[in-house]
Amino acid sequence: MNDTPFAQRLAQMHAQIATIATQRQRPAPCLVAVSKTQDAETLRAALLAGQRRFGENRVQEAAAKWPALRQDYPDLCLHLIGPLQTNKLKLAVDLFDVIETLDRPRLAEALASLQQESKTLPRLLVQVNTGAEPQKAGVLPADASAFIRWCQQDLQLPIDGLMAIPPVDQPRTPHFALLARLARELGLSALSMGMSDDWPEAIAQGATHIRLGTALFGERAPVKNASRF
Ligand SMILES: *Cc1c(COP(=O)(O)O)cnc(C)c1O
Repeated sequence: MNDTPFAQRLAQMHAQIATIATQRQRPAPCLVAVSKTQDAETLRAALLAGQRRFGENRVQEAAAKWPALRQDYPDLCLHLIGPLQTNKLKLAVDLFDVIETLDRPRLAEALASLQQESKTLPRLLVQVNTGAEPQKAGVLPADASAFIRWCQQDLQLPIDGLMAIPPVDQPRTPHFALLARLARELGLSALSMGMSDDWPEAIAQGATHIRLGTALFGERAPVKNASRF
């Protein structure tokens, strides 16, 4: 540990997380530092401060930033938290330790065929569209159980848990509770939910991973050519 501004911010965040977890009688979740749009210098500062788990939402951006850093930090754990196109699948499988956004049968089948070619797959989370929002990725809550059973039993995929991004304009707790209930019913342990503006509610509902960008790195610079949202 050191005394840089990032290290201080990180220590504060861990203290706040521990306080909330204790209050809610939940284990403290893992902190995924969402480093999209952050440059290499910022990433180095975070690594120097001891952070090892990071989330990126674009495969190509991550491929440009992380392989060099992984050489210096082999204990790095990289999560893909954005949509994955099948044409970037091989790159993503080589780059990421966790893919949080398995969201459709075609992607599951493509992952399974890589596994059949003896590729070691990342750990997988299934993204659930808890608000059934048309513009948002994820399997619908009503389809989640059948999809996950099929992934596990027919395709032999290593599914660890569930991930969700609730609607921005609604109270989050019912969405987090829904995701937690689905995970419990399916016997899945990992629950990735909660971002900078709602992580305490996510912890209260049993999040095992919270994904924090702004709360750790500050406001992100606007992304150029952003047609993604
Ligand atoms: C950007 C992003 C986050 C982090 O958002 P903040 O509000 O900055 O904490 C978390 N999860 C996903 C999927 C994201 O794309």
